[in-house]
Amino acid sequence: MKRAIFPGSFDPLTLGHYDIIKRSVTLFDEIVVAIGINADKKYMFSLEERKQFIEDAFKDHKKVKVVTYEGLTIDFCKEIDAQFILRGLRNPADFEFEKAIAHTNRKLSKIETVFLLTASNTSYISSSIVRDVIRNNGDYTKLVPDSVRVK
Ligand code: ADP
Repeated sequence: MKRAIFPGSFDPLTLGHYDIIKRSVTLFDEIVVAIGINADKKYMFSLEERKQFIEDAFKDHKKVKVVTYEGLTIDFCKEIDAQFILRGLRNPADFEFEKAIAHTNRKLSKIETVFLLTASNTSYISSSIVRDVIRNNGDYTKLVPDSVRVK
């Protein structure tokens, strides 16, 4: 069984994340979207809200699971028997950052990181820009799946 985890903060899920997850469904038997818990980080959306947004967006996709985890991503991969880490690449800055993490993970484990280039129409979207738009009462709904709504 080819199982990949897609780790991130998903604060909130964006159309960019959505695109990567949907496209990866054909590559793996199971995609585990894994929301990392970092006690030092301040989030706009609670863990429950972030999880619900993703579950609702993929309710018709049996291969997509949503979980939360703490600690090292590679340790969590071993725990749930995931052989792959999936990441999206938007631009050269993402590449440099992801390269260092992927090499480190490879040094510490046998887990392979698989990168998908983001779709050109969503490559400019980031959760931090979405949060900025929300804070300033902009129309964030153009940047996120329908399941993501501010109460
Ligand atoms: P992190 O806190 O790890 O950066 P994010 O939730 O921002 O978590 O991102 C998780 C993953 O989604 C990363 O691999 C990131 O490159 C990817 N990603 C973020 N935004 C986009 C986008 N617009 N298109 C495709 N992938 C994206």
